[in-house]
Amino acid sequence: MTWATIRKGAAEKAAANLSEAVRRDFTWDSARQMLDGLPGGGLNIAYEALDRHVAAGHGSETAILWFGKDGSRQGFSYADLSGQTARFANVIVSHGLAPGDRLFALSDRVPALYIAALGTLKAGLVFTPLFSAFGPDPIRMRMEIGEAAALVTDAGTYRRKIAAWRGEIPSLKLVLIIGDEAPEGCVALGPAMAAASDRFEVVATQPEDPALIHFTSGTTGRPKGAVHVHGAVVMHAETGRYALELSPGTRYWCTADPGWVTGTSYGIIAPLVNRVTMIVDEADFELERWYSMLQREKVEVWYTAPTAIRMIMRAGREAAEPYDFSSLHFMASVGEPLNPEAVVWSNEVFGRPFHDNWWQTETGGIMIANTRAMDVRPGSMGRPLPGVEAAIVQRQGDGVRDCRDGEIGELALRPGWPSMMRAYLHEDARYKKCFVGGWYLTGDLAMRDGDGYFWFVGRADDLIKSSGHLIGPFEVESALLEHPAVAEAAAIGIPEETAGEIVKAYVALKPGHEPSDELEREIRGLARRKLGPAVAPREVVFRKTLPKTRSGKIMRRLLKARELGLPEGDISTLESDES
Ligand code: ATP
Ligand code: MG
Repeated sequence: MTWATIRKGAAEKAAANLSEAVRRDFTWDSARQMLDGLPGGGLNIAYEALDRHVAAGHGSETAILWFGKDGSRQGFSYADLSGQTARFANVIVSHGLAPGDRLFALSDRVPALYIAALGTLKAGLVFTPLFSAFGPDPIRMRMEIGEAAALVTDAGTYRRKIAAWRGEIPSLKLVLIIGDEAPEGCVALGPAMAAASDRFEVVATQPEDPALIHFTSGTTGRPKGAVHVHGAVVMHAETGRYALELSPGTRYWCTADPGWVTGTSYGIIAPLVNRVTMIVDEADFELERWYSMLQREKVEVWYTAPTAIRMIMRAGREAAEPYDFSSLHFMASVGEPLNPEAVVWSNEVFGRPFHDNWWQTETGGIMIANTRAMDVRPGSMGRPLPGVEAAIVQRQGDGVRDCRDGEIGELALRPGWPSMMRAYLHEDARYKKCFVGGWYLTGDLAMRDGDGYFWFVGRADDLIKSSGHLIGPFEVESALLEHPAVAEAAAIGIPEETAGEIVKAYVALKPGHEPSDELEREIRGLARRKLGPAVAPREVVFRKTLPKTRSGKIMRRLLKARELGLPEGDISTLESDES
């Protein structure tokens, strides 16, 4: 499959924050100049995100524009947030919490969640956000692994999901309830904040002090708790500017929930450190709401995920026609491979392509990206950002060997970028195993072309081996998505005697299409023409939806386990299960 490169004009390239000259001269020391550091020494994410902007006279600029599910709307200036987070920090300190303690958050995207995140960091505690939609077991498991000292949540969630076992978590000292009233044994955040001072001296954390714990999405197995430090803010500042085109005043919308690393790194920290005006929408995806938001709020930079893009595409280009997207100047995507079809489609419908970028919970920030100044090769995740050294390698003995351009291997990163995870909680051996021959091995398979663009092939766990061919699910799925009836696709390998494995695909259809034998044959036929008989799926089955994680990733391992009648494994992050 080849897709024409989307070329950018000279003016577009010149407008980009990351020019070739900046790339060439980049050093991590120069990136540190984007930050101030604490006045008395030390580095603290929340200070970089809020207080320093206030000290520099930007307190009245809008930091957050918040939109409630019920249609309400609220604006917060940098000064407002600085004061509110100081109050929050005072509240938790007054309850005896100390630097290094872990505070968990379990809340919808309401302002208190954002205040809690940054207030926690100001006080030197470690912030750990969870998806509010998690059920009691996933919440409990993570709070146990993370030895939660405090929890911020709402009264309903507390009663329904936590009250029954709260007493069994010995580390848990404090439960703060968003709002004015709290169940017994909990503290209501509203009155506590009102009574607290809006001044707080930010704790003098050092770059290597832990700041955040993020649990991975659980796409390939039991979620791991990745520990990140305050020094990661260098990466957030830098990638916000260079990979996402953030500048002071940019109107920016990251659609991710802070329960997923993207919603914290790029839904809280990177935008505020870069002094943008960021949009927070409490509601989940709804096409008209999203299109109206982009138009009405004049969103300039939009960061979302392939699962949302596929939902937008499902509705067709007619749905976009009534809207004016002329404010948008940069659109980016992360979390799963972005099918070439989606890049081309977005370029036609929005007049700009989605720019795919790649990273993981473990990397803490964007590593490989299509940037504004780059021509986009649909299906490629772009080139390593400045300061990032990436390679394609094969494991060999105790070390690795480099792959040639065009050869598939494991994506590897040279350790040393500021936001690299510093540990997997309680899984030391697993952490150490990620580092081989001087590289951090990502567990993803990819290849690099002769111009230095990286192409995602699949997760090592998802690779299909059929009659001597190595088949990445992404390639198969991208071909299936070219069929006009297909909205989503997942490909897995099924054991078979002669071939070793054969490819089986699951597809969900766009509205207006019904499953039929004829359609199945047609889709398989298209795949055979695009991919050849050795790679094309032998069987295509229809599903209403595909199983996904809460961060929107298709769980191929679950399709496979079900297909083979094997145990389903950890399904704590499974979002919907209508199949
Ligand atoms: P787990 O590690 O628990 O199985 P996960 O890997 O899905 O879950 P995340 O850290 O949220 O957890 O996701 C990172 C992974 O998502 C990457 O390793 C990669 O497989 C995939 N990914 C992220 N961005 C892209 C992208 N642009 N293209 C292809 N894959 C991507
Ligand atoms: Mg992973």
